[in-house]
Amino acid sequence: KQNANGKFTVPIIEGDGIGPEISAAVKKIFGAANAPIEWVPVDVTPSIVDGVQVFPKRTVDLINEHKVALKGPLATPIGKGHVSLNLTLRRTFNLFANVRPCKSIEGYNTAYSGVNTVLIRENTEGEYSGIEHAISPGVIQSIKLITAKASERVCEYAFNYANEIGKKKVLVVHKASVMKLGDGLFVSSAEKIAKKFPNIELCYELIDNTCLKMVQDPSYYEDFVMVMPNLYGDIMSDLCSGLIGGLGLTPSGNMGIDVSIFEAVHGSAPDIAGKNMANPTALLLSSVMMLRYMNLPEYADKIEKAVLETLASGKDNITKDLKGNATTEKFTSEVISRL
Ligand code: ATP
Ligand code: MG
Repeated sequence: KQNANGKFTVPIIEGDGIGPEISAAVKKIFGAANAPIEWVPVDVTPSIVDGVQVFPKRTVDLINEHKVALKGPLATPIGKGHVSLNLTLRRTFNLFANVRPCKSIEGYNTAYSGVNTVLIRENTEGEYSGIEHAISPGVIQSIKLITAKASERVCEYAFNYANEIGKKKVLVVHKASVMKLGDGLFVSSAEKIAKKFPNIELCYELIDNTCLKMVQDPSYYEDFVMVMPNLYGDIMSDLCSGLIGGLGLTPSGNMGIDVSIFEAVHGSAPDIAGKNMANPTALLLSSVMMLRYMNLPEYADKIEKAVLETLASGKDNITKDLKGNATTEKFTSEVISRL
């Protein structure tokens, strides 16, 4: 949505813990880059209606209207009766595919170089279906729900995404050797969708084997878009983050049919909240993904380049999670000086 000044208004959920600090960094950098974005803060304090957790109506309406939002990390209070706010958000806006790219940062060295992976995580069901019950004391049944509908939808997204970014292979990561019916359905859904994409090769791998090969030689996965059920995607994407330097660096997009919400992969990091220590890179790169999605590539390129240059500019300019000495604010002003 464009306002009278020609700026695009975008809802922002600043989030908990380090959320306000890293959101402030994004806003400052966008301002300095003259990005044509006007942020609209929205409140996600939930209430319970008919036993279901819901967000304020204004927030839901605003995000539906804009079709896009930027989100900081949300904490879920530990204890009975609290449903994850992240899950509620994914369900409210039907955000069925979570796209997580991981690329080595030139000039910031880790044990691995040449990492360039794209992982797409099924975002609505699997082990996160929330169906758990006690059968008897000491015996719990926890249901992993797999449907053809959600599996086909996320696989189709993966094939389309591969086409979009010019990759020739889609890799389904699964454990159908053990979960023959559940993961089996995910695999057969991918096979069904693959028929619509004759130019893209469908490949398969067992999740344990992917973990092994990923830490031996991540560059092998450059040719693929990986797609997998929910929990595997959660774990594999943290593994990929670790290869390039950690959670502070990895962006993501939660993609739905109508709405897409971009967010950092990491959580609210309560241990360092309010200490001017958080690394805003993950949220920044998520906002760069958002700019590309909004068809504003020139601003995306400009901000991304300044962020990557800052990360490569030495210990004094990067945050503690990257073994640097800079505060959040120092890192932010270094990015701005490179715009
Ligand atoms: P949540 O319950 O919200 O997921 P968490 O306790 O699991 O929070 P995470 O945010 O997932 O914490 O982070 C795990 C570790 O990584 C923490 O020690 C945290 O400080 C660190 N960390 C995560 N994100 C960042 C960041 N952006 N900058 C610096 N350190 C981070
Ligand atoms: Mg966490």
